[in-house]
Amino acid sequence: MDKRALRILNSAYWGPTGWLKPTADRPPPEDRAYAEQAGYMFPPLAIGHDELIALVRDAADQTTLRAASDAFVASLSTRSLRHRPVLSSFLVARSMPDHTYLHSDYGCQVCGAWPDREVDRSIFNFERHKWGGTRFLEPAFVWFALDRFAHEDQPEPTAEDQRIRRQILSDLADLPPKATATNGERALRAMRSNQDERLGVMEILAIADILQDPAHPGFLNGFVPFAEREDVTARHMDLGYPAGWWRRSHGINATAVDAVFPQP
Ligand SMILES: [Zn+2]
Repeated sequence: MDKRALRILNSAYWGPTGWLKPTADRPPPEDRAYAEQAGYMFPPLAIGHDELIALVRDAADQTTLRAASDAFVASLSTRSLRHRPVLSSFLVARSMPDHTYLHSDYGCQVCGAWPDREVDRSIFNFERHKWGGTRFLEPAFVWFALDRFAHEDQPEPTAEDQRIRRQILSDLADLPPKATATNGERALRAMRSNQDERLGVMEILAIADILQDPAHPGFLNGFVPFAEREDVTARHMDLGYPAGWWRRSHGINATAVDAVFPQP
């Protein structure tokens, strides 16, 4: 961790009252240059849809489910939030079909990306460090999280991380049947965390099919096309697909738990 670079990154996007927009002077150019040199901030990247999809698929080939799962678990005691979206990103990237842009008014029908756009990797990095990610299904973020993982440390979970993982899964199973992913985040209090971090973990566990509504699958066993992800925003403003659909009455998918967390 480079604390100076992280401080510069945070100062670009976050202040005492919340979100900020970087300007030409903030962070100061020499600070920005330092953060870019350290791999914490990045210049804008113009990238076409088809090129992005190739990067996503290549990134999935560079890692394994075990490494991605280990990164997630190793974040639980350490609160190294940047390691959490490696798991969801790997599952989305691994299942993403090779495809060219298929137009809809909302972006590509397959993946949701736009045909051409400028990717702001600095904001992705800010969100990854601050909350463990927020745009879990966005192809550019999926690629970014895996690309950074390939260039950064790849932690091994400790016995304490595994204990927290088992405790969380057990506490999720004990929620009342009507609990949703939004109000069920309290089951994750076995880990040192704030609510935003816990909601992020709920999203990742849903993408991994561990919190699975069978009618709204995640990405462990296949890709759910963008156009087929039933919108939850009208009912659950703070959680995306598929976490917004989960109820505790759907249960915890034991097969998915075994596939994603083979460790005892
Ligand atoms: Zn696409």
